[in-house]
Amino acid sequence: MACSFKHCLLNALFPPQCLHCEDKLPRIPPLLCSTCLEQLSLAPIHQRCWTCFAELEKGRCERCIHRPVVIRRQLAATENIGPAATLLHNFSQGQRECIAPMAALMVYQWLEQKMLLPDLVIPLPVSFGNKYKHGFDGNFLLASEVARLFSVPVVRAFHSRFDLSHFLIQGEFRSRYCLKSRRKEPLADRTLLLIAPFLEDARLRSAGELLQNHFPAQLCVLCFTAY
Ligand SMILES: [Zn+2]
Ligand SMILES: [Zn+2]
Repeated sequence: MACSFKHCLLNALFPPQCLHCEDKLPRIPPLLCSTCLEQLSLAPIHQRCWTCFAELEKGRCERCIHRPVVIRRQLAATENIGPAATLLHNFSQGQRECIAPMAALMVYQWLEQKMLLPDLVIPLPVSFGNKYKHGFDGNFLLASEVARLFSVPVVRAFHSRFDLSHFLIQGEFRSRYCLKSRRKEPLADRTLLLIAPFLEDARLRSAGELLQNHFPAQLCVLCFTAY
């Protein structure tokens, strides 16, 4: 009771603001005002590689041309600028309110590109530090929201493991991905959709290589921002 009274008092003294431009919002606020919401548009896919979503130089992808395909298609919902960058930043700071609008825009991009629904949605795992700092796994919550919108199951196929070799060489704490060995949900012959907040090609590719060991029918990636 004391807490909600304090909340009301703070709202009265400091009306809620748009997360990005800090414009004032109505009493039950959306995260962004209407002006900033309009700037939150889908990333255009022309001039981008169909496979890895990199920007094309001279009409071809210098990255994909020299390597075998691991992930059939990588897509990002939007560019990492303006209100989208603010949403991503606040998500990475542990603000759960950002998850629903991020997932909605990701699903919108997926359907807009006329991609087929996946069988399973898999979150890219977060590092030890990130989970400890926020007390929850943001990537899992983001993947769960995407899975809910698609009405398909979400599966935690990966876990993070402390990377001792990196620590011994670089002296930094870092975790690496491992596939959970005893899995209830088989990945073979399924269409898998890997979910991450932003498109980091090398990390997604290494996760994709692990998933390939389970012979999925198809593996795609959906992120919130391009970089
Ligand atoms: Zn605004
Ligand atoms: Zn490419």
